Order: sequence, then C-alpha cells, then structure tokens
Amino acid sequence: MRIRSINAEKMGLSNRLTLLNLIRTTPGVSRRELARLAGLDPSTVTKIITSLLEKGLVIEHGVRDADHPGRKSIMLRVYRDAAVALIAEIGVEKTRIAKGFLDASFEVLDEFDTPPKEDEFFSVFAGSLRKKAFSFPHTAYCALSVAVPGMVEWGSNVLRSLPHMGWKNVDFEARLGKLLPEMELTVFTANEAKLSLIAEMFRNGGVSGLHSGVYVYLSQGVGGAILMGDKIIHGLSNTAGELGHMTVDPRGPLCHCGNRGCFETFVSIDTVVRNFENLGASLPGSDFREKFRALLRLFQEGNDAARRVLEEMGDFLATGIANLVSILNPDFIMLGGMGSILPPSFVAGVGENVAKKTPGATSPDFLLTTASLGIESAALEGATLMAMNHYVKKAVK
Ligand SMILES: [Zn+2]
Repeated sequence: MRIRSINAEKMGLSNRLTLLNLIRTTPGVSRRELARLAGLDPSTVTKIITSLLEKGLVIEHGVRDADHPGRKSIMLRVYRDAAVALIAEIGVEKTRIAKGFLDASFEVLDEFDTPPKEDEFFSVFAGSLRKKAFSFPHTAYCALSVAVPGMVEWGSNVLRSLPHMGWKNVDFEARLGKLLPEMELTVFTANEAKLSLIAEMFRNGGVSGLHSGVYVYLSQGVGGAILMGDKIIHGLSNTAGELGHMTVDPRGPLCHCGNRGCFETFVSIDTVVRNFENLGASLPGSDFREKFRALLRLFQEGNDAARRVLEEMGDFLATGIANLVSILNPDFIMLGGMGSILPPSFVAGVGENVAKKTPGATSPDFLLTTASLGIESAALEGATLMAMNHYVKKAVK
C-alpha cells in the first residue's frame, strides 16, 4: 500500500536524523549506546550508521572499553568539515564573520566596528565577506546564518527593528544581494538571544534535559528567549522574549522605546556602567563590555561604589525575573550575554530575592543560573546550529 511505504520512509528519515543529532550532541558515543538512547533496534542503528559513514557525515575515532568486560566500543562523532556555513554576528558595537562547522564549532574570519548607518554597514559587511570569506569558494558554504541584536520578521529575513542601531524594516537578504549578486546562499537571520538559548540547549548539560526556561540576554539593552515544552516561543509576530521592555517601574527613566522604567533601563550593561561613572570615576575599556568587566572586578575587590551600583542592578534583575517566574513557572532562568560572567555570590543574592518575591511559585528544583557560553561565542554557535540544523535535515535524506 502506498501510505505504508510513505510512512516507512518518513520513519527512516526521522531515525537517521535522531541518530545524527545524538552523535552531534554526544561525541564519542558508541553504536550500542545510540541504540539505547534512541530506543532503536541495534541492527537498525548499525545499518543507519553505515549509511552516515558512507555519506561522510560521521567518522569513527578510536575505541574505548565498553560497559561489558572484555568488549570494546568504537567511538563515533560527526565529521566537523562535512558541512561549513558562513556565519555572522551583527553586534551593536562589533560585527564578526566566521566559518561554522557541523559539530557547532566555529572559526572567526574577520571582526570590525559595526557602522551604525545601514548603507555603510552593508558596504563594509559585503566587502568583508568578499575579502575574508569567499577565498573559500562561497558555493561550498551550506548557508549564510546571521545573529542580529533585535527583532526579525518570522519566515523572512526582514529585520523589523534593531533599536540600538536605529534600523527599521531592513530587508537583509535583498540589501546584501544587491552588493553580492554572485552569492547564492540560503540566508537565515535570527535574534541573538534566541540563538544563544539554542546553543545552550545543545551544549550545556545543566539545562539540556530541561523543558522550559528563559534566557535573559544582558548586553547593551536586554533581550531574551523563552523555551516552553522544548520549543522556543516565537509569538504572534516573532517578538516573544523581548524582556527588555517589560515595565518594572512606571515612574522610572525614559527608555528609547518611549516608555518609562523598562527592564533594560535598569539592568543593561550600558546603564549599569553609566550609573557607576555618574558617581565620578570612569572605568577602563574601549567599549561597554570591557567597562562592565572592569566594574565586576571592582565589585569583587570590595569597591563600595561598585557594590551599590550592582546591588541596584540586582534588585531590578530580581523584580524582572520574579515576573517571569510568576507568569511562566519555568524550570530555569539563565543569565546570558554579559550576564554569563556575573559572580556566583551576586547571582545567589538575586536568587534569594526572587524566592522572596514569588512565594509559592518557585519550586526547590527551580534553577537560576549563568550561561555556560560567553557573549563572544553563544550567538555565533547558535547561528552555526541554525544553519546546520537545516543542513542535516537535507543531508540524511
Ligand atoms: Zn523600553
């Protein structure tokens, strides 16, 4: 029967995808372990692995002792160079382009100060791609995958709003296509916080088995991403997770969005750096990230002004996080971006404050944690995964 054959085909595809993804997330895994993890018959696993080896997606790399005495297991991992994506991270201050690989690792090819004006940006960006990336034949890349600091329209590559750069409704793919007509790559664009959360779920064993969480991306401005039922929530117009404009004090400072007392007017790193410098002392560093690192060093050395400024940040962080916990009751909240380097004592203090503000809502299992990937790698790794997740679906067919 026709229907049966289609279902069998789909099931085979799904099994191949499952095994390839298990090998991506568990390098060194054996065939026997894969059968157990995937709940598949060992002979099915052997057959699928043979085909993945033939396609060059997976390689065998050495043996180790198996669970059973006297037996050896052959270790499997994905072949890093089986697919190479061109990836980029447009940051408010710096832009980087890189090569991303099938195992989600990447190599930076170029970095430059982000020109704030659109025309200048696209000209510099296209020039960098042509000079630094296209020596590797650009047709050999499987995609161009880009992390951006703002809102992207769902299903297209229109950047709806990059507030800290003043961009609105920029058709990224069309603008780049005009400058690089020879480029035929599939283009993906996504918000940096969503990509950072995708990277954490792939890489971080502390949260990879959890089903719901919120990633709070602290940088210039505050972004975020929400995971519910193992899926990232996009919302009606793909802006779910824009935590930066949650009101935490209606009489607070004016935000660039036109409202008062948004979360990011209290906890973004540029705000906190300015709050410290307004007390009279300047921080060393050429950008807000360096200055924020310097501020955390002062805090840990016991500097009184640094302590006061960070205590205020901690109070508002706790207010915002308590709102999220009350509404979503998530397994975890992760402080990412520059939040990944917040000291454990500071995070523990915020956690105690959150618990006080949410009596009954926080379970003993609730996890407030910092991201395992730093701001330099999280979004680029997420952009790599966005390209590779698309690639592997086609490659296993
Ligand atoms: Zn706002």
